[in-house]
Amino acid sequence: MNRRWPLTYRMTQILSGHGCFGRYLCHVARKEPTTGCHECGGVEDTAQHTLDECPAFESERRVLTRIVGDDLSLPNLVRRMISSERSWLAVSSFCEEVISRKEAAERERESDRPASLRRRRARPRGGGVPNSAPLYPPLGPGFHNTGTNKAQWIENLTDNR
Ligand SMILES: [Zn+2]
Repeated sequence: MNRRWPLTYRMTQILSGHGCFGRYLCHVARKEPTTGCHECGGVEDTAQHTLDECPAFESERRVLTRIVGDDLSLPNLVRRMISSERSWLAVSSFCEEVISRKEAAERERESDRPASLRRRRARPRGGGVPNSAPLYPPLGPGFHNTGTNKAQWIENLTDNR
C-alpha cells in the first residue's frame, strides 16, 4: 500500500456510504425527509447508487470505468485503487467531482429550507454533514468497522481484499 496517495474526505464518503447521500441524510443525519436521489429522482440514493447507477453522473462514470473497468462494486474498486496509482487517482477525481456537485446541491436545499428546520443544524450535537462528520467514518457492510485514524482506516480497506 502506497501511503503517498491521499485519501480525501470525498473518497471516504463514497467508500463508507456516510456522506452526501439521500439514505444517509435521511436515516442517519436526519436532514432529509426521504432517501431519494435529488439528481435523478431514484427512490434510494446511496454511495453505490452514486457510483454505479445515477444517470446524473454518467460522463464522470465513463471516465472512471475506462480506467478501473466496469465492475464498480466496492470490493473491486478498492482492489483496483490499492493496486494502481492510476486507478486510485481515477477514483479520487470521480469522488471529488461527483460529491462536490452533490454537496453544492445539498447546500442549496439547505438554504431553501424553513428556518425552523435549519435551526437544528446550529445545535452543538447536530448532525452536520459534511462539516462535523468524522473524516474516517466506520466503513459499510463487508468491512471491519474499527479505527478512526487514517492508518487504521486504510488497513481496514486492505484487510478485505
Ligand atoms: Zn440518482
